[in-house]
Amino acid sequence: MSLSIISRNLIKKYGNSKALDDINLEIKGGQVFGILGPNGSGKTTFLKIIAGVLEATSGEVLVNDLDTNKDRELVKEIVGYVPETPTLYESLTPREFLNFVASVRGINEAKFKERAEKFCSAFSLTDNLDEPIGSLSFGTKQKVAVIGAMLHDPEILVLDEAMNGLDPKSSKILKTLLRDFSSRGKCVIFSTHIMEVAEDLCDRLAILYKGKIITEGTLEELKRASNDTNLEDIFLGVTGQDQIGNIVETLKEAMKS
Ligand code: ADP
Repeated sequence: MSLSIISRNLIKKYGNSKALDDINLEIKGGQVFGILGPNGSGKTTFLKIIAGVLEATSGEVLVNDLDTNKDRELVKEIVGYVPETPTLYESLTPREFLNFVASVRGINEAKFKERAEKFCSAFSLTDNLDEPIGSLSFGTKQKVAVIGAMLHDPEILVLDEAMNGLDPKSSKILKTLLRDFSSRGKCVIFSTHIMEVAEDLCDRLAILYKGKIITEGTLEELKRASNDTNLEDIFLGVTGQDQIGNIVETLKEAMKS
């Protein structure tokens, strides 16, 4: 079994509209891979297919050699997934929720206790463990979702905007955990709108636009290909969103009139 995510000629349609249009990508074990793209470019759809949550319309996605369309249940076993908007039972406490995750994932009691304690302490969640999830802040809920996805020590981690709402300490801890995770030969794929996070963390990056990969490579490769020196300018350039000055001028004029 090879530790990797491979997407070949992947197409995903919603009705007649293509959300992903011929995605070809290989993400090797040991890499942190970032998916960037403006809203609506297909990031969430791609990550859901990798996580076994959505079916591809055509083409294939292999996760550690498992076909995400044919072996969805097995894929879900080896993947840890943090959705963009995690669904958490608001009436449960984080302790109850994590216990539930452990039982579904078949994690034994001793391992659960040790891992849950370490994660909760690292993310400063210990004081909130017995409060209803519905009463927690957005960022604290996000921490619960992240811990829930990592508890079974998955082979592949798929995170959709998981840094959203995290305070700087938790964000730093998550970044360190993702590095450690990939250094053990596992794959991490995540989407983010935060360019500094992508620059800081990713071994490779792909920029999606209107369902297609516009560019892919290491940060250095993307810089060389575009002649831009930072990721924000590369991103705005390749997605045709670099006319910010004109937009601001038009807005200023509109405010004056
Ligand atoms: P991103 O994560 O980059 O914002 P998405 O994957 O959420 O992009 O969406 C890609 C495209 O697919 C968008 O045009 C979006 O409107 C469309 N889309 C996403 N989910 C659905 C759905 N459940 N039904 C119909 N269209 C959808």
